[in-house]
Amino acid sequence: MSTAGKVIKCKAAVAWEPNKPVVIEEIEVAPPQANEVRIKIVATGVCHTDLYHLFEGMHKDGFPAVLGHEGAGIVESVGPGVTEFQPGDKVIPLFLSQCKECHLCKNPRTNQCEVAWTRINQAIMAGVESRFTCKGKRVLQFMGTSTFSEYTVINQTAVAKIDPAAPLDKVCLLGCGICTGYGAAVNTAKVEPGSTCAVFGLGAVGLAAVMGCKAAGAKRIIAVDVNPDKFENAKVFGATDFVNPKDHDKPIHEVLTKMTSGGVDYSLECVGNVQVMRSALESSAQGWGVSVIVGWTDLHDIVIRPVHLISGRTWKGSMFGGFKSKDGVSKMVKDYLDKKLKVDEFISHNMTLDQANDAIELMKNCKCIRAVMSVSPP
Ligand code: NAD
Ligand code: ZN
Repeated sequence: MSTAGKVIKCKAAVAWEPNKPVVIEEIEVAPPQANEVRIKIVATGVCHTDLYHLFEGMHKDGFPAVLGHEGAGIVESVGPGVTEFQPGDKVIPLFLSQCKECHLCKNPRTNQCEVAWTRINQAIMAGVESRFTCKGKRVLQFMGTSTFSEYTVINQTAVAKIDPAAPLDKVCLLGCGICTGYGAAVNTAKVEPGSTCAVFGLGAVGLAAVMGCKAAGAKRIIAVDVNPDKFENAKVFGATDFVNPKDHDKPIHEVLTKMTSGGVDYSLECVGNVQVMRSALESSAQGWGVSVIVGWTDLHDIVIRPVHLISGRTWKGSMFGGFKSKDGVSKMVKDYLDKKLKVDEFISHNMTLDQANDAIELMKNCKCIRAVMSVSPP
């Protein structure tokens, strides 16, 4: 029996309060309204940004919410005005929209989109409107996506149609971590062949940055992490040198500057720590070094000495790897299917939505690269 036009009751992991386990609940998902798409989520990864909302940002107005922004699924039904999608299409939800009409979308220099800034309330990292309710309460859609739910409703500007051959339990990771890190190296840093790079933080985002540096032809890729268990993984993606800041008495930028006789050409911060952001900048070469902030935080300011920039370094930030989201994700899925891009290698654990708290704990304790949860059967 068709569910189109009806409220769907389904399972979701609801974060009722900050710093508490999520609870598997039955929620109601309203039918898609104008320009919206209702998606059956098949699989989702857990990204550090989900943990940030739950344990670090802890904005009290950001709850209750359904977390998750690294998913893939199948269109169940579409609202009025949707022409790009049909029931049955394979799709990836996007936390950054691409409306293709605003002045930002039309400008090739950015992947920002005006719709994203109105659709998502940046302070609470959630959609202004939500199609979810649970126990009579409105539940927020984290990053506008909420992939820790069997069904979700998303504006068509924030959905990418992907190749029907794509395995959803793998390509879900292209909804955030892999595109974010890879694109930060390739699109934002614009790593050049023969260069030396340093990547700080070797979660999925950092490992994807290592993969991006390698794809761009970097000769030397220094992987930096306080957890030495991550170094084996980094080798798989192309890292050539490994540095654990805990093994050194000197500040890490001094260690890297010495190792590279003057600093790296490109550094990428994939941790979300303002001290590390400063170290990454100071590790880049005086004169031309480029340092990219990828890690997420809005809790602290960064302090630097202006001379570090005056002497010729460039400091940049990167959201979603600088990819125009709809176009970028479809292309990255194709590259994966054409075996030009590693994705399976990022998956360290396969779990189910019922195990959401276990998956979150694994991530919190740095025991996984990516745990992929199966949500609804395809
Ligand atoms: P993760 O938790 O899997 O990985 C973080 C890694 O950093 C871990 O391996 C940890 O051991 C390491 N680390 C911690 N402190 C360190 C230090 N002082 N020096 C070196 N390494 C250190 O996280 P992830 O999912 O890979 O995400 C990484 C960051 O990227 C997070 O801040 C996340 O919020 C952010 N993010 C940003 C975007 C974006 O669009 N800019 C998108 C997704 C994620
Ligand atoms: Zn993410």
